[in-house]
This record gives sequence, structure tokens and C-alpha cells, in this order.
Amino acid sequence: MTPIEQYLAPATLDEAVGILQQGEVTILAGGTDVMPQSKAGRLAIKRTLMNIRRIPELKGIALDNDAIRIGALTTITEILNDPLVKEYLPVLAEACDHFASDQIRNAGTLGGNIGNASPAGDTLVPLLVLDAAVELASKAGGANGSIATRSMPLAEFFTGPGRTKRAANELLTAVRIPLPKPGHVARFFKFGTRPALDISAISIGIAGVIAGGVISDARVAFGAVAPTPIRAARTEEALEGRRLDEATIEAVASAARDEVNPIDDVRATAWYRKELIHNMTKRILDHVAQA
Ligand SMILES: Cc1cc2nc3c(=O)[nH]c(=O)nc-3n(C[C@H](O)[C@H](O)[C@H](O)COP(=O)(O)OP(=O)(O)OC[C@H]3O[C@@H](n4cnc5c(N)ncnc54)[C@H](O)[C@@H]3O)c2cc1C
Repeated sequence: MTPIEQYLAPATLDEAVGILQQGEVTILAGGTDVMPQSKAGRLAIKRTLMNIRRIPELKGIALDNDAIRIGALTTITEILNDPLVKEYLPVLAEACDHFASDQIRNAGTLGGNIGNASPAGDTLVPLLVLDAAVELASKAGGANGSIATRSMPLAEFFTGPGRTKRAANELLTAVRIPLPKPGHVARFFKFGTRPALDISAISIGIAGVIAGGVISDARVAFGAVAPTPIRAARTEEALEGRRLDEATIEAVASAARDEVNPIDDVRATAWYRKELIHNMTKRILDHVAQA
């Protein structure tokens, strides 16, 4: 393992992306993944450990035209208590309410949950069904040393467990979530041995717009059933434009079970995960149909 040569805590975004441009940097936000993974030997901290917690540009939740922008440093507790999230994105608050303990929620950030890129990350499934995009900043390509930014749909961001399309010189600055349309409904479900304190064995997000009993703009996402959290295109197809009657609900739940390809691990067998996906998708849709 390379020994840490310097610990830096920049106070501005400009300083932080400048440090990243020099290379060999591990980003530290709340540290609730970085520290245990480093201690367990699963993460090698690079030459520079950069604590980003002092950077004001990465904080806060705000309405920004037709979207809600959540800064990467926003903690799970802050999301849970935010009035904009409660009003427009209750499915994200629901996921945060099933996230770890108070201590972890107070330290753990949204940017860290995305940066850790676990297939079981609890905010990722609701963010996928809310059609979120990530904002990335770097010094590369910015004219006269200015900051260059780019945005990418979250659905395209993850490439494998612990891996994303973020370049080494980029900092995740925020997540943008389009304001949901009228009639929008969204639900989150997480199953773990101890529902909040455990990492998900599976998680499910379902969203859509309901008008006259028919669902459109259907989005379905699953966690912990593949190397990354996934949008489930075939399950969405089974749901799109349909009335939520018994036959549709069974067809969607079966499509969900067929679409996922989980593994056996310490949390659950692949068979059990598939059955959970079927049964809980059905239960969520039953609740939506009755609401
Ligand atoms: C006891 C315990 C229980 C947990 N329970 C849950 C749970 O129920 N659900 C769940 O989803 N997670 C859980 N976690 C995992 C962890 O708490 C979350 O993933 C948390 O959101 C990580 O945020 P952080 O700020 O602590 O990230 P850090 O540990 O600081 O960073 C995590 C990763 O993201 C990178 N990173 C952080 N910020 C940025 C940024 N702005 N730009 C680019 N890269 C960045 C870091 O370099 C690192 O690779 C648990 C962890 C522990 C220790």
C-alpha cells in the first residue's frame, strides 16, 4: 500500500479540483465507507487524502429552475429533514429513513453513497427512478484554468461494484433531479435482515405518473441484484401504459423476477432474492393501485 504523503482540506471547489488535477488523490467526505474499507484492507488510500468537508459549494439543497439540486456533501440526515425533499421527492426521504443508524446518517453524504458505487447503496435506487443526473467538475479543459463541468444521467454512471465513469480528476459536485410531474407516484422498498441497520439484500424503486388509473413514464430500479444498481427496462415495458389491475401487476412482478440476475452471498441466495423481487414488486403495485 502507498503511504499517505499529505492530508489536504481545501476550502473552495477551485482548490479541490486543482488538487485532483495533480493525481493520486483519495477523496474523503463523511468517511463512513473510506475509513472502514481502508482499515479492512479493501481500499488503498492514495498519496494524497483530500477531505472535502470544508467546501461550501458542495453543500445544500435548492430549487433550481425545473429541478432540485442536492449538493454532494449533503448528509443523509439533512436529506431526511429537508422540506423540498419532503414535498417533491418523498421516495428519497423514504430511502434515507431506512439508511443505517443516526450516527452514520449524520456523517454519510449523498456524494459518498454515489461515489462508493455499491450495488446496494440505498439512495441509488430512488435516484434512478427519479431520473437523477450527476454533476462532475474538473480543471481539465476549462479555459484559462477555470472549472469545467459536465452532467451525466445516473443510469449511465455506474460501471461495476465500486466503479463509475467519474474520471480521476473529477469531483462529484451535486445531483440534479427533475421536478416530478403532476400525478407522479414513487415507492421504495428495502429488505435486509435488520431493515435499517443492515445493507440491503434487495431494494426496489417504482415510479410513474398515474392518470385515469393508467400508469405512464414508468420507471423501475433494483438494488443488490447485479454488479450495479439497475434500471429494469423489460419490467418498465410491462408496466408502461397499463391499468394497474391484477393481471398487469402479476405480469410486471414476473417480468421483474425474470429480469434480475442476482448472486448468492452472505445476505441472501439468488433464488431468495428473485422471489423477494417478485413478491415485493407485487406488493408495492397492489398498494399503489389501492391508493
Ligand atoms: C455501520 C455502517 C452502516 C451503513 N449502512 C448503510 C446503509 O444502510 N445504506 C447504505 O446505502 N450505505 C450504508 N453504509 C455505507 C455508507 O455509510 C454510505 O455509502 C455513505 O453514504 C457514504 O458517504 P460518506 O460521505 O461517508 O462517503 P466516504 O466514505 O467519504 O466516501 C465514499 C466513496 O465515495 C468517494 N467520494 C465521496 N465524496 C465524493 C465526491 N464528492 N466526489 C467523488 N467521489 C466522492 C470517496 O472517495 C469514496 O470512494 C453504511 C456504512 C457503515 C459503516
